[in-house]
Amino acid sequence: MSIAPLPQLRPAVGECRSCRTFCDKLIEPRECLRMRCPYLWSYVDGPTGRRFMGCVQKVFRGEIDIAGFEDAERSGGFGGIKMTGEPLAHCPTRVEPAYEGEGPAHICLNPGFFDAEDPDDFDLRTGLPLAS
Ligand code: SF4
Ligand code: SF4
Repeated sequence: MSIAPLPQLRPAVGECRSCRTFCDKLIEPRECLRMRCPYLWSYVDGPTGRRFMGCVQKVFRGEIDIAGFEDAERSGGFGGIKMTGEPLAHCPTRVEPAYEGEGPAHICLNPGFFDAEDPDDFDLRTGLPLAS
């Protein structure tokens, strides 16, 4: 009996698993706010009055509770949230390695993962539907 090979899983956007370091790209919501990104949405939940914010472009998918975010910012900083979609040129990304180590298993095979886009390429029309 032959065993079918396991399907190759496509790595998720924002993840590199090419070596044992296991890197993730994070978005810094603090910077999204600071730059007043036009794609940062927020709303107030009527019944509870709680406020949430997120990214229209789904560069990160999480909905952030703004009160919790502000509390965290006052006590050390909220930090990053996992990037789950293709970033735009201006998106504030950083790479966080999960397991830093030495030896061949931790030699970076994908140095381009650390590259940031040129923020000067940012165009507010990016991601908007094209006019017909
Ligand atoms: S598009 Fe980029 S900078 Fe703007 S809210 Fe989303 S992640 Fe933040
Ligand atoms: S160190 Fe390099 S190859 Fe290894 S997981 Fe991180 S980006 Fe990928």
